[in-house]
Amino acid sequence: MPTSRPLGGPTDDEPDGLFDLAELRTGPTPPSSAAPRTSGKPLFRDSAEARRMLAVREIHAEPGAAASPRGRQILAAFPDAEVVPVDSHWRIPDLHGNKGNAERWVRIKSTVLVLGEKKTLTVRPNGRSADWIAPGAANGCAMACAYCYVPRRKGYANPITVFTNVDRIIARLRRHVTELGPKREPNQCDPAAWVYDVGENNDCSVDALISENTADLVHAFARWPTAKASFATKFVNPDLLLLDPRGRTRIRFSVMPPDDSRLLDIRTSPVEQRIAAAGDFLEAGYEVHFNLSPVVIRPGWETAWADLLRHMDDVLPAAVKEQAAAEVIMLTHNRELHDVNMEWHPRAEDAIWRPELQQAKRSENGSLNVRYRNAIKAEAVETVRRLVTAHAPWLTVRYAF
Ligand code: SF4
Repeated sequence: MPTSRPLGGPTDDEPDGLFDLAELRTGPTPPSSAAPRTSGKPLFRDSAEARRMLAVREIHAEPGAAASPRGRQILAAFPDAEVVPVDSHWRIPDLHGNKGNAERWVRIKSTVLVLGEKKTLTVRPNGRSADWIAPGAANGCAMACAYCYVPRRKGYANPITVFTNVDRIIARLRRHVTELGPKREPNQCDPAAWVYDVGENNDCSVDALISENTADLVHAFARWPTAKASFATKFVNPDLLLLDPRGRTRIRFSVMPPDDSRLLDIRTSPVEQRIAAAGDFLEAGYEVHFNLSPVVIRPGWETAWADLLRHMDDVLPAAVKEQAAAEVIMLTHNRELHDVNMEWHPRAEDAIWRPELQQAKRSENGSLNVRYRNAIKAEAVETVRRLVTAHAPWLTVRYAF
């Protein structure tokens, strides 16, 4: 979930010079440590559907990241992509900071990758969605939800940056899990396990189209009996069903009324598909929760959410219902993002930029965030809770804000 602190950039180290691209491209590709079980079938990530999400043509790479085993695997997976050496994954002004890129926003997201090394491996307390926020193995996203908070921090066009040193991220998490020991008091995050959000600024299901970072995290948590990984997703990636999470990864499918989603969740899997996948993911060993988010107040929103909850009640298997819980998150938005969206998707702004319902708050980094006014938000949260009780009474609301 959002924080007001910019991520990584100012604390990252300086790079160590350019690299010999030809050598990297011709050397042997290191084996993957966590290649998914294939069951003999082609992987989804090699399908035409996956390529519609991500057809990588350009990879901006820090030297160390490109030369690392994970970096070399990624370069080998996209052999036709042009590789552009960069000093730092945070300083690519043409991609990140240029508002003029608004028209190219979606094209950049779907064709450009950045490879970097994460230098700052901080585990931060959270207490809402998860107990802890893990250092991310990626940031940025190939999807383009109109309300997404990631561009507020990363820049306007924000292609996926993959961190190639996921081994160090996992080692940091292992130390944290070990030092914490067992969870002694149940809380709303989980009754028994310490929950770590591993996808704060990225979508781990899409990241799994690129590398084994998500697989490595899922398999690491499968070995830690006192902890659980958690990530929200709007993308159904069947390759994740081939992993072995052993109940230690919570996948949170984000859902909203399909009409809202078609308008706002650009490039994501349809909501119906996310709901239909829940049973398969439970069977594969995931814990399956839902994010009812973002809740967008617009004419008829209560009826639309009631319909969605009734649909979930109709189609979800009993086993999913028995273990499901949900977070309810009201829409937040941002002045700068509104201005950018007006250049490429103004219809979305009719729904999510509603000054008569919203109040502004300047964040620590100076940008103007907006959220529903206190009284309006409180009433809407109560409405969602009432709708859940009426139409999906099996769904525990873990928290709502
Ligand atoms: S899926 Fe998540 S990270 Fe990706 S654009 Fe949408 S809100 Fe942002």
